[in-house]
Amino acid sequence: MELGVDTSSGPPNLVPRRLVTPRCTIITPCFNDGVFLEELRRSIELGEMVEHVIVDDGSTDPVTLEILASLEKGPGVTVLRTLRSGPASARNLAIRSVETPYAMPVDADDTIMPGAIRDLADALDADPGLSVVWGDTVIFGTRLAKVPCAADLDPWWFTFVNDVVVGLMGRTEVLAQAGWDETSEYEDWGTTLSLIGAGARGRNVGRVTYGYRSHTQARRRNEAEKRDEEEIENLRTRYRWIFRQRRELRRRSSAPFGVRVIGTVVAGIPGLSDSSQNRWVNRLSRYVWRRRWIHHPGDLPCHPLRMRFRSDRPAHASGPLVLGVRDVVPSATHVVIVSPHCDDAVLSAFALLDDPGLTVEVVNVFTEPTESADWIDRVGAVSAVQEAEERQREDQCALGGRAVVVDLGCGPRISEDDLRARLGRALEASRQAHGAGLLVAAPAGAGLMTAAPRLHGVGPVARLLGTATSLRHRDHLIVRDAVLRWAAAHPDVCAIVFDDFPYHWAKSALRSADPDGAFHLPVDTTAKAAAIRCYASQMEALFTTEQRAHLEGWLPPVEAYSRPDLGHCGPTM
Ligand SMILES: [Zn+2]
Repeated sequence: MELGVDTSSGPPNLVPRRLVTPRCTIITPCFNDGVFLEELRRSIELGEMVEHVIVDDGSTDPVTLEILASLEKGPGVTVLRTLRSGPASARNLAIRSVETPYAMPVDADDTIMPGAIRDLADALDADPGLSVVWGDTVIFGTRLAKVPCAADLDPWWFTFVNDVVVGLMGRTEVLAQAGWDETSEYEDWGTTLSLIGAGARGRNVGRVTYGYRSHTQARRRNEAEKRDEEEIENLRTRYRWIFRQRRELRRRSSAPFGVRVIGTVVAGIPGLSDSSQNRWVNRLSRYVWRRRWIHHPGDLPCHPLRMRFRSDRPAHASGPLVLGVRDVVPSATHVVIVSPHCDDAVLSAFALLDDPGLTVEVVNVFTEPTESADWIDRVGAVSAVQEAEERQREDQCALGGRAVVVDLGCGPRISEDDLRARLGRALEASRQAHGAGLLVAAPAGAGLMTAAPRLHGVGPVARLLGTATSLRHRDHLIVRDAVLRWAAAHPDVCAIVFDDFPYHWAKSALRSADPDGAFHLPVDTTAKAAAIRCYASQMEALFTTEQRAHLEGWLPPVEAYSRPDLGHCGPTM
């Protein structure tokens, strides 16, 4: 480990959360977006230490001015001022004051996903030949969706689609040189095109890094889309030589053959406007190319088939994205995650485990050595006791010092009364210690009747369409009911349920349970993938080879939770 690294605030097995010298400066143009700016600040503060240059682009809203004034007094924030010169010019001004080696533009109403700054800066650290890096995007706000972004700076592809939008991190001098195009409403596209023109190399780090807020009222970008044709013409003129070489660039393109065919065919249709061409190439390529990124038929409307059916659905069904559980339960200081089996907390409630603002306790319920000779054999253990010990070791590795563990020692034949009594004693002890700061999290109870190894028995078609069985896992249901019963009898304690992730391609239990209380928490998918890999004996049962090879990109970037209607905790959203 390098000198000057402060590991005190991070869990022991992971990359340190904070570096003493910031590697990156976030640059943010802000016009009357004070309300959102506070959320952005929080998402920044959850990650590695950075500098933040905010350009107040002539805000008039008193709340925004007040927030900017108070941010300015704090450490790590510089506020520059311009008079309605637009976001491109604001960013160009900001980049000139950056002193860190890397810079990253983030809009005032957007957020950075947990662990993203670390992963992006690490990628630049690791490869001096890389100029810019980025990740995929989560859209939140009025809807929730994952948007896969380009894999690299393929010049051919970028003549059709600006596939990185904002939120790319780059070497400061490279970004300053490329600048943001002040003549275009598509200033980001201009930036990627001039990076390409300068021969810069860039890549996607393979996980979700950016939270893009969708609004109900049309914002600037929507207006820009109306002027799409004009804007593309403008780009075509300014970056003429790239567009002119489209044919040659196609030969060297990293896009799959199918996508190149689509591009060639669409670009060859006579009379089709540039903006329609781009729309068609973008849309069609999703079906052949980007499908490999689209993998989560649960709550995120990602699969193209699902997107078609779901695009007009109201967004409230999936609940809002909040940065921390305390946005929903403000009193929470200590959370007890009740985990039916030892891996459930990590698989399904990692956002709670990884929340730096909470102390965490994991209550493992079914921890008695297994009686299944088949399972013992499958995980390569010689006895039930050895298998149980191995599971415990894996659990410690996965939790990585984030939580205190309490084992209830229940076995498959335990009566519900006995389980309730044991659980009640454990929860009561936490209640005595933490009072009204206690939050209890239970599984929502979705799952398959059969154990995890049979999971792949769910057919691909059923998974694809999300119509796989909604049978529930008995262990999870018993635990959920026991926790909620206890919580109902203790009105001073708040309870939430987490969506059982490994069973996600079965119908989400959350959706049928309490859609109104649902909310999502963003996850550091790199840290979560590292934790899940500790469960070596379960990996093969839980994930396909392809998923295992790139778990951080495959894991859903948010976890779903819900407040059961017990009528006594948290503000209503
Ligand atoms: Zn389980």
